[in-house]
Amino acid sequence: MADCLFCGIAAKEIPARVAYEDEAVLAFHDINPQAPVHLQVIPKRHIARVSELTSETIGLMGKLVLTANRLAGELKIAEPGYRLVVNCNAGAGQSVYHLHLHLLGGRPMRWPPG
Ligand code: AMP
Ligand code: ZN
Repeated sequence: MADCLFCGIAAKEIPARVAYEDEAVLAFHDINPQAPVHLQVIPKRHIARVSELTSETIGLMGKLVLTANRLAGELKIAEPGYRLVVNCNAGAGQSVYHLHLHLLGGRPMRWPPG
């Protein structure tokens, strides 16, 4: 989609530190990390927010989670634990309107997240 930052990263028009890629999914390091490990896991297909997933596209969410789980293992943050976050809309902190799963780890995580 034109003017979408993460579509630009998926298309390799905008540089990113890519950690994983397949035909449907891209994972890359966050430009402003909030933890020692902070990756974005995105579908290559443009979906603006998690609330726009449908019965046709919901499988993509599973691919994002499986990718994040695998990367958490590879990056040695599976133990003691990691956090997966999806912000939906501005009030929840969404700033990029292309579906993305935050993978955070490498430090203790507090709750509630704020
Ligand atoms: P959210 O606030 O949930 O929409 O998350 C958007 C995330 O994208 C933030 O953690 C940003 O730091 C990250 N981000 C923004 N621009 C870039 C970029 N060019 N490369 C990597 N991560 C980015
Ligand atoms: Zn997009």
